[in-house]
Amino acid sequence: MSTDTQPFPPEVSEEERNYIRRSGRYVVVGFWTQIPQRCFVCNKEATVSEKIESEELNHIEVHFCDEHKKKRKRQFLIIVAYASACLACLIAAGFLNKTAFGSLAFVAILLVPILSLPYSIKAKFKERSIWITGAGKAFLDSLPEYKA
Ligand SMILES: [Zn+2]
Repeated sequence: MSTDTQPFPPEVSEEERNYIRRSGRYVVVGFWTQIPQRCFVCNKEATVSEKIESEELNHIEVHFCDEHKKKRKRQFLIIVAYASACLACLIAAGFLNKTAFGSLAFVAILLVPILSLPYSIKAKFKERSIWITGAGKAFLDSLPEYKA
């Protein structure tokens, strides 16, 4: 990363860079904050870490307990299976020239991102903080409130 794209000026204090708060359903952290080693869903002791889905902010890791890691994996596989099934129907509809069935499969595919929304952890940079979605209520409730 070049110095031109630094997300904050260097005068920002160490303390300001290193904090973790909540704001509604968001976890708000300083740019260099390490997220505590607790499950991002249930706030229990975490055993596995996962990088967040963001190219610019992929130095941030969230953590999960065994149970929620397994659950996330299962949900991910279900969504993949669902998407594959939709795609197969779409292709079949194309071959058989069944337009109505094809349209239905197409609409079903459009639901994939919506279905996967609760399981995706996304981050964006805003107001000198990183705002992360996808945390569970127990984890959010353990954090102090963010005040802008
Ligand atoms: Zn958990």
